[in-house]
Amino acid sequence: MPTVAAPELKSLRVLVLGGTGEARRLAERLARAPGIDAVMSLAGRTNAPLDVGMPTRIGGFGGVEGLMRYLTEAGIDRVIDATHPFAARISANARAACAALGVPLAVFSRPPWRVREGDRWTEASDNESAARALGEAKRRVFLTIGRLGVAAFRASPQHEYLIRSIEPPESQDLPPLSTVILARGPFEREDEIALMREQRIDVVVTKNSGGASTYAKIEAARALYLEVIVIAPPAYGDIPRLADLDAAMVFLGASATP
Ligand code: NAP
Repeated sequence: MPTVAAPELKSLRVLVLGGTGEARRLAERLARAPGIDAVMSLAGRTNAPLDVGMPTRIGGFGGVEGLMRYLTEAGIDRVIDATHPFAARISANARAACAALGVPLAVFSRPPWRVREGDRWTEASDNESAARALGEAKRRVFLTIGRLGVAAFRASPQHEYLIRSIEPPESQDLPPLSTVILARGPFEREDEIALMREQRIDVVVTKNSGGASTYAKIEAARALYLEVIVIAPPAYGDIPRLADLDAAMVFLGASATP
């Protein structure tokens, strides 16, 4: 009697664009999921990236074209963009490459912070408009936007800046009246209040990065009744946003079958 071969189950090939805690959590879940064959992509910004328990590729793809080539050659069926909300270039590249190839794409990232009672927020669309929003009169500014955005504040040289970043900004990027402190979150509310008091801060400038680890500066500013200039994250357009890990599994699960 002829034997009928069982249909071969094809795993769903998933590319996770990473570099965040959210991507690591997603990787842990995907590594345990049957029928999913995922690969993590990191930009290569840190020298010793954490093991995420799945195959990892490191380094840029070479723009939209390079990403399209990778998606095709690696046979990727789905892409999840779990990069930092302010990693705008790779997210735009993912949108363009996936749209061109018809590969479904979703965004998995933390929601931005929302203004709460007692907050004194001024919203800005980018670093340049945040620098303008500081106004003409000299102020003491706590600048916590990452080292790469600091140069935009050279356009407002009258202010005194306390700049906090993980790695030092380039010296040519610094506004003339700058002090740099190096620190990596998470930060505590009481420590942030103490720092802002000691440094006689008038205004805080931050990216709206969402998440808990750097939220203490927002709470401290609220407690001290300080203005916070909040730079909005870039828009995602109409790309579906996955609210949690279960939503990510639904996005993948529908096609994780033969
Ligand atoms: P970006 O400006 O959006 O990306 C710059 C270039 O880096 C991209 O065009 C791409 O190069 C490459 N790249 C970025 N993320 C990649 C990834 N996951 N896999 C492969 N290539 C990637 O990004 P960024 O702001 O420099 O951030 C770089 C990485 O650090 C991201 O993975 C992000 O999740 C993480 N991160 C960023 C921030 C932030 O505040 N921006 C904070 C924490 C972590 P090609 O064009 O050559 O493909």
